Amino acid sequence: MSAAGPPQGACPPGGERREATLGGDHTAAGPPQGARPPGGERRVATIGGDHTAGLWSQFRPEDLATPEAFAANPKTVWEWYAGRRERVAKVAPNAGHAALVALEQRTPHFTLITQNVDGLHARAGSRNVIELHGNIMVDRCFAEGCVLTPAEEIPGAPPRCARCGAPVRPGVVWFGEALPPQALDDALAATKRCDVFLSIGTSNVVEPAASLPFAALDAGAAVIEVNPERTPLSARATIVLPGAAGEVLPLLVG
Ligand SMILES: [Zn+2]
Repeated sequence: MSAAGPPQGACPPGGERREATLGGDHTAAGPPQGARPPGGERRVATIGGDHTAGLWSQFRPEDLATPEAFAANPKTVWEWYAGRRERVAKVAPNAGHAALVALEQRTPHFTLITQNVDGLHARAGSRNVIELHGNIMVDRCFAEGCVLTPAEEIPGAPPRCARCGAPVRPGVVWFGEALPPQALDDALAATKRCDVFLSIGTSNVVEPAASLPFAALDAGAAVIEVNPERTPLSARATIVLPGAAGEVLPLLVG
């Protein structure tokens, strides 16, 4: 690591450099990147025992995480997400999350762009976070799309939006859905104006996020890739730091 660590050059204390960070998997415990079809939400890493997993083993995420599945059987999809929310609530931010919090605190302009839906970056203390695929803990109205305050549970069914009566859905981007336009615009703007772009733990194959580090390169930024495996970005990245985010980032940030 000593030869590869660029923290001083990347963000000098008190400097005016801007920095955009693309965080991918928050943990090395995540599923294979290739398992996720384009446009789908990132799956949540499950750590430890999962007593409900057997109930859902007959379903594939791509069969449940769609607007069509929710419209056809909101109860099933809602219950599946209730289990996932329970598991997310039990996962704590790791050393990689903490390192990005520290990096933000010492960088004048810092944007964290994530494809994760677990909200762990915000829970860890990151402030300027763009969640490209939404947040699994957020409730949204299925008809209007607006964010709702956590709705009252109705046993066996999703709660209803108090305004229009439509069922409540989790605030994630489902398979077949577009990314939130504002989030994507903000991510691209931060990417184009940054001096340093970190691509962390992402396979760099799922669009449109996969294009961001290349957009940063085209705009003249240095791109640092942190990933245990090589990706389509590796050949063009300014610096490649092979390893898991939770191990490399604490060393990088110091
Ligand atoms: Zn509504």
